[in-house]
Amino acid sequence: MHSLALLFLLSLVLTGSAWCADEPSQLKVFASVLPIQTFVEAVGGERVETEVMVLPGQSPATYDPSPKQVAALAEADLYVRVGVPFETAWMKRIQAANPKMPILDLRDGLPLRMQEAHTHDDEHGQHEHEHEHEHEQHEYEHGHGQREQHGQQAARGEEPAQDAALMAKEMDPHIWTSPLLVRKMAVAIRDTLSALDPAGAAVYAQNQQRFDAELVALHQSLQSRLAGLGNRAFLVYHPAWGYFADSYELQQIPIERAGKEPGPRRLAALIAQAKAAGTRAIFVQPEFDQRTAQQIARSIGGRVEAATPLAADYADNLQRFAAILADANAASDTAKAAASPARSERSESSDRSGPSGPSGPSGPSGPSGPSDEP
Ligand SMILES: [Zn+2]
Repeated sequence: MHSLALLFLLSLVLTGSAWCADEPSQLKVFASVLPIQTFVEAVGGERVETEVMVLPGQSPATYDPSPKQVAALAEADLYVRVGVPFETAWMKRIQAANPKMPILDLRDGLPLRMQEAHTHDDEHGQHEHEHEHEHEQHEYEHGHGQREQHGQQAARGEEPAQDAALMAKEMDPHIWTSPLLVRKMAVAIRDTLSALDPAGAAVYAQNQQRFDAELVALHQSLQSRLAGLGNRAFLVYHPAWGYFADSYELQQIPIERAGKEPGPRRLAALIAQAKAAGTRAIFVQPEFDQRTAQQIARSIGGRVEAATPLAADYADNLQRFAAILADANAASDTAKAAASPARSERSESSDRSGPSGPSGPSGPSGPSGPSDEP
């Protein structure tokens, strides 16, 4: 090996730059979480070089960027955010590390859903203020610009940007768990990359179209995997799968609420709810405590399954989630059918009937949809 090359490599190590120096023409793009990095790479291809803020196994709730990451920000051409909690605490400092760096917020223009029962309050734990006081005070403090509070005044709008941030805080940030929303995000990524690198516009457009076709295929596959289920509810410790649930007419039942373990009363209610729904799948992110989930699993005869919404292999991860859910709930459908021979397949799933999506021509006579065998 050339000693010159070695020296070059060594200098890279010593300067600690997160970026490769050999392709200076590449756009350097930072993303908050791994799935977003995956999307940027899908659209950017070889014209972009990406870094991710929240590394595998770390929590987007409490993440603190490392000094090395902050240094790398200074050279970044774009930051892509998505609304995860650490951004709230860090966005000003991220921007300060590179004041000219544009920030793409992937929530823009998307139909956001409300977080179940305020469940992301936990993830504001690192903030200095006490949540209990926010709702009383934000009415008065609104407009003073120091804090980002919860609020419903977003529509009033003398400070549109900040109000949008306030509004967003009430909303579920896990927008990437729906492939349908990722299709829109990919368009936003394409447009932003094209604006920053017009010479690559054709490549970005091509990549986005290919990625879009993959997302459509993923969506159709998930839809048919889940369409036949009578039981459409699942338990999840941290409610990160709300957009996924909405897209496939499933019901997400969060165990954690306001970041807290359920007390004895709510635990009993959860178990009753899960039993009534015939739910068997209980999803827990590996980094969360499993004990409550295990306790519920024992009570309902279900199983705790590890699942993270933060995996980099986006499509495989969603497929896996759907497969576990379909298997668990198909088993409970079978058990129900055995218990009551005169079941009506879909009326059991509470008020969310009609699980066949727009593509499924499932007429009233019925059994044309995909079946749910394991
Ligand atoms: Zn979360």
